[in-house]
Amino acid sequence: MSENKFVKQDSAVDRDHAEFTVIIRSVARQMRFVHYFTGKECSRGHIAKRFVKSGQCEECKRNWRVNNLTSYKTSHRKYRETNRTPELKRKKLWRQNNLAKGAAYSAKRRTRKQNATPNWSEEQLIHQLFSAANYLTRLTGIQWDVDHIIPIKHENVCGLHVYQNLQLLPRLDNLIKWCKFESSEHSTVFD
Ligand SMILES: [Zn+2]
Repeated sequence: MSENKFVKQDSAVDRDHAEFTVIIRSVARQMRFVHYFTGKECSRGHIAKRFVKSGQCEECKRNWRVNNLTSYKTSHRKYRETNRTPELKRKKLWRQNNLAKGAAYSAKRRTRKQNATPNWSEEQLIHQLFSAANYLTRLTGIQWDVDHIIPIKHENVCGLHVYQNLQLLPRLDNLIKWCKFESSEHSTVFD
Protein backbone atom coordinates (compact mmCIF):
# COMPACT_ATOMS: atom_id res chain seq x y z
CA MET A 1 0.00 0.00 0.00
CA SER A 2 2.80 2.40 0.92
CA GLU A 3 4.48 1.35 -2.32
CA ASN A 4 1.53 2.64 -4.34
CA LYS A 5 1.66 5.92 -2.50
CA PHE A 6 5.22 6.49 -3.61
CA VAL A 7 4.51 5.43 -7.19
CA LYS A 8 1.66 7.93 -7.30
CA GLN A 9 3.86 10.70 -5.95
CA ASP A 10 6.46 9.98 -8.60
CA SER A 11 3.94 10.01 -11.43
CA ALA A 12 4.81 13.66 -12.00
CA VAL A 13 8.02 12.24 -13.40
CA ASP A 14 6.13 10.97 -16.43
CA ARG A 15 5.74 14.51 -17.65
CA ASP A 16 9.44 14.35 -18.46
CA HIS A 17 8.85 11.93 -21.35
CA ALA A 18 12.25 10.69 -20.27
CA GLU A 19 11.18 7.14 -19.52
CA PHE A 20 13.64 4.70 -21.06
CA THR A 21 14.96 7.40 -23.37
CA VAL A 22 18.58 8.26 -22.76
CA ILE A 23 18.79 11.92 -21.88
CA ILE A 24 21.91 13.34 -20.32
CA ARG A 25 21.77 15.44 -17.18
CA SER A 26 22.75 18.79 -18.70
CA VAL A 27 20.08 18.53 -21.40
CA ALA A 28 17.46 17.42 -18.88
CA ARG A 29 18.37 20.43 -16.74
CA GLN A 30 17.99 22.78 -19.68
CA MET A 31 14.59 21.22 -20.43
CA ARG A 32 13.69 21.69 -16.76
CA PHE A 33 13.03 17.98 -16.33
CA VAL A 34 12.99 16.39 -12.91
CA HIS A 35 14.86 13.30 -14.13
CA TYR A 36 17.53 12.24 -16.54
CA PHE A 37 18.40 8.75 -17.75
CA THR A 38 21.76 7.35 -18.65
CA GLY A 39 20.91 3.68 -19.15
CA LYS A 40 23.82 2.79 -16.87
CA GLU A 41 23.70 1.00 -13.51
CA CYS A 42 23.90 2.95 -10.27
CA SER A 43 26.28 1.93 -7.49
CA ARG A 44 23.62 -0.50 -6.23
CA GLY A 45 23.02 -1.97 -9.64
CA HIS A 46 19.72 -0.26 -10.59
CA ILE A 47 19.08 0.84 -14.15
CA ALA A 48 16.72 3.66 -13.32
CA LYS A 49 16.02 7.34 -13.80
CA ARG A 50 18.04 9.75 -11.72
CA PHE A 51 17.17 13.12 -10.25
CA VAL A 52 18.56 16.12 -12.08
CA LYS A 53 18.99 18.05 -8.83
CA SER A 54 20.85 15.44 -6.80
CA GLY A 55 21.99 12.86 -9.31
CA GLN A 56 20.43 10.23 -7.02
CA CYS A 57 19.01 7.05 -8.48
CA GLU A 58 15.22 6.97 -8.26
CA GLU A 59 15.15 3.32 -7.25
CA CYS A 60 17.65 3.95 -4.44
CA LYS A 61 15.60 6.87 -3.18
CA ARG A 62 12.39 4.83 -3.22
CA ASN A 63 14.06 2.02 -1.29
CA TRP A 64 15.47 4.46 1.23
CA ARG A 65 12.05 5.99 1.81
CA VAL A 66 10.31 2.64 2.18
CA ASN A 67 12.95 1.38 4.60
CA ASN A 68 12.92 4.51 6.68
CA LEU A 69 9.16 4.68 6.80
CA THR A 70 9.03 1.10 7.99
CA SER A 71 11.60 1.69 10.70
CA TYR A 72 9.81 4.87 11.75
CA LYS A 73 6.52 3.05 11.91
CA THR A 74 7.96 0.20 13.93
CA SER A 75 9.70 2.46 16.41
CA HIS A 76 6.56 4.58 16.78
CA ARG A 77 4.42 1.50 17.31
CA LYS A 78 6.88 0.20 19.88
CA TYR A 79 6.77 3.50 21.73
CA ARG A 80 2.97 3.51 21.75
CA GLU A 81 2.79 -0.08 22.96
CA THR A 82 5.13 0.52 25.86
CA ASN A 83 3.58 3.84 26.88
CA ARG A 84 -0.06 3.24 26.09
CA THR A 85 -1.16 1.18 29.07
CA PRO A 86 0.25 3.43 31.83
CA GLU A 87 -1.03 6.50 30.03
CA LEU A 88 -4.55 5.09 29.67
CA LYS A 89 -4.53 3.93 33.27
CA ARG A 90 -3.49 7.34 34.47
CA LYS A 91 -6.24 9.06 32.45
CA LYS A 92 -8.87 6.61 33.65
CA LEU A 93 -7.85 7.10 37.26
CA TRP A 94 -8.02 10.89 36.92
CA ARG A 95 -11.48 10.65 35.36
CA GLN A 96 -12.74 8.35 38.10
CA ASN A 97 -11.39 10.56 40.86
CA ASN A 98 -12.89 13.70 39.43
CA LEU A 99 -16.22 12.10 38.61
CA ALA A 100 -16.35 10.79 42.15
CA LYS A 101 -15.68 14.25 43.52
CA GLY A 102 -18.44 15.79 41.37
CA ALA A 103 -20.92 13.06 42.25
CA ALA A 104 -20.17 13.39 45.95
CA TYR A 105 -20.76 17.12 45.80
CA SER A 106 -24.11 16.89 44.02
CA ALA A 107 -25.25 14.07 46.31
CA LYS A 108 -24.44 16.23 49.30
CA ARG A 109 -26.39 19.15 47.84
CA ARG A 110 -29.34 16.91 46.96
CA THR A 111 -29.47 15.48 50.48
CA ARG A 112 -29.33 18.94 51.99
CA LYS A 113 -32.33 20.04 49.91
CA GLN A 114 -34.24 16.83 50.63
CA ASN A 115 -33.65 17.25 54.35
CA ALA A 116 -34.70 20.86 54.15
CA THR A 117 -37.90 20.08 52.22
CA PRO A 118 -40.35 18.05 54.32
CA ASN A 119 -43.23 16.27 52.60
CA TRP A 120 -45.74 18.66 54.06
CA SER A 121 -44.15 21.77 52.51
CA GLU A 122 -46.92 23.77 50.92
CA GLU A 123 -45.86 23.78 47.27
CA GLN A 124 -48.74 25.99 46.15
CA LEU A 125 -48.14 28.63 48.79
CA ILE A 126 -44.45 28.72 47.98
CA HIS A 127 -45.24 29.05 44.31
CA GLN A 128 -47.57 31.97 45.05
CA LEU A 129 -44.80 33.61 47.06
CA PHE A 130 -42.46 33.45 44.05
CA SER A 131 -45.23 34.89 41.86
CA ALA A 132 -45.69 37.68 44.37
CA ALA A 133 -41.96 38.43 44.23
CA ASN A 134 -42.18 38.71 40.45
CA TYR A 135 -45.26 40.93 40.71
CA LEU A 136 -43.59 43.25 43.23
CA THR A 137 -40.47 43.43 41.07
CA ARG A 138 -42.53 44.55 38.09
CA LEU A 139 -44.63 46.93 40.17
CA THR A 140 -41.82 48.70 42.02
CA GLY A 141 -39.00 48.38 39.50
CA ILE A 142 -36.64 46.96 42.12
CA GLN A 143 -35.75 43.29 42.52
CA TRP A 144 -37.74 41.30 45.13
CA ASP A 145 -36.45 37.93 46.31
CA VAL A 146 -37.93 34.99 48.21
CA ASP A 147 -35.65 34.62 51.18
CA HIS A 148 -35.18 31.87 53.77
CA ILE A 149 -35.68 33.43 57.21
CA ILE A 150 -33.58 30.70 58.81
CA PRO A 151 -30.91 29.90 56.22
CA ILE A 152 -30.95 26.45 54.64
CA LYS A 153 -27.19 26.35 54.24
CA HIS A 154 -25.51 27.55 57.37
CA GLU A 155 -22.83 26.13 59.65
CA ASN A 156 -24.90 26.49 62.83
CA VAL A 157 -28.54 26.19 61.76
CA CYS A 158 -30.51 24.32 59.13
CA GLY A 159 -33.70 26.06 58.05
CA LEU A 160 -36.55 24.37 56.21
CA HIS A 161 -37.71 25.06 52.67
CA VAL A 162 -41.28 25.64 53.87
CA TYR A 163 -43.74 28.50 53.56
CA GLN A 164 -43.29 29.49 57.21
CA ASN A 165 -39.57 29.94 56.67
CA LEU A 166 -39.93 32.14 53.60
CA GLN A 167 -40.23 35.88 53.31
CA LEU A 168 -40.33 38.45 50.55
CA LEU A 169 -37.40 40.81 50.59
CA PRO A 170 -36.35 43.59 48.26
CA ARG A 171 -32.74 43.06 47.20
CA LEU A 172 -30.57 45.11 49.54
CA ASP A 173 -28.45 47.10 47.10
CA ASN A 174 -31.53 48.05 45.11
CA LEU A 175 -33.33 49.02 48.29
CA ILE A 176 -30.53 51.35 49.34
CA LYS A 177 -30.58 52.98 45.92
CA TRP A 178 -34.39 53.32 46.09
CA CYS A 179 -34.27 54.88 49.60
CA LYS A 180 -31.67 57.41 48.52
CA PHE A 181 -33.79 58.32 45.53
CA GLU A 182 -36.94 58.64 47.68
CA SER A 183 -35.26 60.80 50.33
CA SER A 184 -33.72 63.13 47.77
CA GLU A 185 -37.08 63.51 46.03
CA HIS A 186 -38.86 64.19 49.32
CA SER A 187 -36.26 66.71 50.34
CA THR A 188 -36.89 68.71 47.20
CA VAL A 189 -40.64 68.44 47.69
CA PHE A 190 -40.54 69.65 51.29
CA ASP A 191 -37.96 72.40 50.81
ZN1 LIG B 1 20.03 2.81 -7.42
